[in-house]
Amino acid sequence: MPDRWPRTILHADMDAFYAAVEQHDRPELRGRPILVGHPGPRSVVTTASYEARPFGVGSAMPMAEARRRCPQAIVVPPRFTRYEAVSRQVRAVFDAFSPVVEPLSLDEAFLDLTGSEGLLGPPGKIAGDLKAAVREATGLTVSVGAAPSKYVAKVASDVGKPDGLVVVAPSEVRAFLAPLPIRRLWGAGPKTAVRLEAMGLATLGEVASCEPGRLEAALGSLGPHLWRLARGEDERPVIAEREASSIGYERTL
Ligand SMILES: [Mg+2]
Repeated sequence: MPDRWPRTILHADMDAFYAAVEQHDRPELRGRPILVGHPGPRSVVTTASYEARPFGVGSAMPMAEARRRCPQAIVVPPRFTRYEAVSRQVRAVFDAFSPVVEPLSLDEAFLDLTGSEGLLGPPGKIAGDLKAAVREATGLTVSVGAAPSKYVAKVASDVGKPDGLVVVAPSEVRAFLAPLPIRRLWGAGPKTAVRLEAMGLATLGEVASCEPGRLEAALGSLGPHLWRLARGEDERPVIAEREASSIGYERTL
């Protein structure tokens, strides 16, 4: 019997967005390791293409270190005006699927699709149609997670990357989260992770099975919060934001 979804939330995240835009616009870069960022000695990598990632390079790494690890990578200066234009195309696709879109950055958003199954079909079909529409509009791939909460949808889009489509039905949430490592918990920084590991807790399933009072004793109010997240309990709503006011981006020097 299919699950009843109390809420249907999608998290959509463009794959290696800036690098993917460059590879789309410049076919000679396709299939090659590229680092979006300035070549200067003090700059950092804004985005690495998937071809560069096996060399251990990624966003926020100093450019000099990334070039040392992946000398064959092509360094491409960022073109933020172009990324914003593509972001607007992506946003228009999201808006066509839901009136409730909460962007997190230029290339990532939550969409609330609660109650739209009659119109658009089950969550997995909606997610697949969204991916196809983004590709049609931009030529780029997006990873999508569908779940009954924001937290689980975000984890689902991430574990499927790149070009992912991961649906976590309400009855599957606990089993989906259980094997994941502590670092997947929102709000658990390195210090918290060390404390949890000192308590013998390495996975979300172990946190979920822990006595919440024990977590509270060790971590204060963060403890029960993490306990609820590890069980997939996250009531935060998707908050619609107007495009103009919501999307900002940070230039990384
Ligand atoms: Mg992204």
